[in-house]
Amino acid sequence: MQISYFKADRKSIKIEDTKKGEVRVFYPKNTSITRAQEFVLQKEKWIENKVKQALGNVEKHREVFDLESITLLGKHVKIDFCDIKKAHLTENILLLPEKLKNDEEGLKKAIKQFITRFASELLPQATSFFAEKVGKCPAKVAISHQKSIWGSCNAKKEIRLNAKLVMLPKHLMEYVIVHELCHMIEMNHSDKFWQNVDRFCNSKQCRKDLKEYNFLINLF
Ligand SMILES: [Zn+2]
Repeated sequence: MQISYFKADRKSIKIEDTKKGEVRVFYPKNTSITRAQEFVLQKEKWIENKVKQALGNVEKHREVFDLESITLLGKHVKIDFCDIKKAHLTENILLLPEKLKNDEEGLKKAIKQFITRFASELLPQATSFFAEKVGKCPAKVAISHQKSIWGSCNAKKEIRLNAKLVMLPKHLMEYVIVHELCHMIEMNHSDKFWQNVDRFCNSKQCRKDLKEYNFLINLF
């Protein structure tokens, strides 16, 4: 297990797993590294589990981490290159322009563009489908590549969805959409809110399953 320690401008010790099986520990300036290490030792089991989970994820989705595949609605779709100008999806291959083969940044950009395009078609459709069922119509549905969340809903009833939702298995994409729509009824995470969400899915299971895919948010 790889653990790195960092002195930080904070009041308590924080342990962070990087989704790739590395662990970072941030500790206050007035705390000794020995104290930080003791703290980590106490949490060893918890950290081990986190790391095991992260490494399992990396293994399961290695091709996605290595930009050899993407997931679309939870299924792995291979990336291949050919003499084309724009990304093109066949039944189970995402074809990309040849010139991106050895250009990691260009490749990430092209995948991101493809995902945005795919999301712009699928997410509004899925949102109106569930809006009708929930009985609330959002004032606006915006799609973007948010940096840390899958979706949000504000007091103006504007819903923002992460384009990478289309990379998730369908039931998880739907869970996030339903979650945000239900915020138009309850602007909180009260029992009443979860009861509404649970009319459409098993929210507890979905929240658990979603953890496996959180790495996608920061992948590109
Ligand atoms: Zn929420």
